[in-house]
Amino acid sequence: MKDVTVPSTCKGCERDITISEEQITRILNNMRPKVECVNDEVYEARLLACSQCEDLMAGHTCGISGSIVRVRALAATHNCPSYSGSRWQGASS
Ligand code: SF4
Repeated sequence: MKDVTVPSTCKGCERDITISEEQITRILNNMRPKVECVNDEVYEARLLACSQCEDLMAGHTCGISGSIVRVRALAATHNCPSYSGSRWQGASS
């Protein structure tokens, strides 16, 4: 299997996009009581779309919005910013 090099900087601003699992979990836990969230089925569908998207960077960051996809996908008011149209169609709350 061929090795794949994953960039560690945002395509837009060159900032380091490294984030730990612990940091993502803390953000999600802070979000849940404060933000309208999608249900588990929608959340998983959104994350599946992100996992198959060529704009996903380092396995966690949307290369278009700069958002952590596990955070963005949880918010009911957010959508996928793909230039070719939302990849989350059919994954609405
Ligand atoms: S463009 Fe959409 S599907 Fe792709 S990583 Fe960003 S939010 Fe996810």
